[in-house]
Amino acid sequence: MKCTTCFHQCEIPEGGRGFCRARICENGKIRPENYGCLTSLALDPIEKKPLYDFHPGSLILSAGSYGCNLRCPFCQNYEISQENLHGRSLYVSPEQLVEEAKKYVPAGNIGIAFTYNEPMIGWEYIRDTAKLAKENGLQVVVVTNGTASQEALEEILPYVDAFNIDLKGFTDPVYQSYAGSLEQVKAFIERAARDAH
Ligand code: SF4
Repeated sequence: MKCTTCFHQCEIPEGGRGFCRARICENGKIRPENYGCLTSLALDPIEKKPLYDFHPGSLILSAGSYGCNLRCPFCQNYEISQENLHGRSLYVSPEQLVEEAKKYVPAGNIGIAFTYNEPMIGWEYIRDTAKLAKENGLQVVVVTNGTASQEALEEILPYVDAFNIDLKGFTDPVYQSYAGSLEQVKAFIERAARDAH
C-alpha cells in the first residue's frame, strides 16, 4: 500500500513500516502506529517552540511522539525522532491530552503544541486532538519540518492557530542530504501562510 502523508510516498508491504518508522501497513490499510503514543510531555515557554509573536510570555503543553521522515545529522531530538519507540511510549488519548492541558490553564498554559518528533507523520492525532482543543478554548501550535503532503495539511489547518515551519536550507542539495524535499516545504509554507492572519 502507498502512504501519501509525505513526499516519500512509501510503498509499504503488509506488516511493514514506512521510512518515518511510525506509519505501518496493517490489514491492507496504512495507519499511524504512533497515534497517541507520547514519548515527551512538558509545559514549555512558547518562546521555546520557538514562537516570539504568539502569546509572548505564555506557556504551552508540548507533546511529542516518535518517528520522523527526515534524517538531519544535527537533530537534537534524535533519540525519539529516529527510533521506533512503540511499546516504550505512553498512550494518551485526545480527550486525556486536552484534559491535561486544561489543568494547567491557571498556571499560564494557553493550549497544546505538537512537537519534538515530526508530528505531521501522525496528522490524525493532531486533527482529533486539535479539534477537541479548539472546542475547549485552547490554542493549537504545530512545530513541523513542513514536508507533509497538502492533503495532510488540509486535514489539520482549520484547527491550528500557529505553525513553526522549519525551513532548514535554500537549495535542493541541502534537502537531499537530509532525505528531504525543498519543493514540498515551500508548498507547505505557501499554503499555511495563505490562511495566516
Ligand atoms: S509519512 Fe512515513 S510512511 Fe508515509 S510517506 Fe512519509 S515517510 Fe513514508
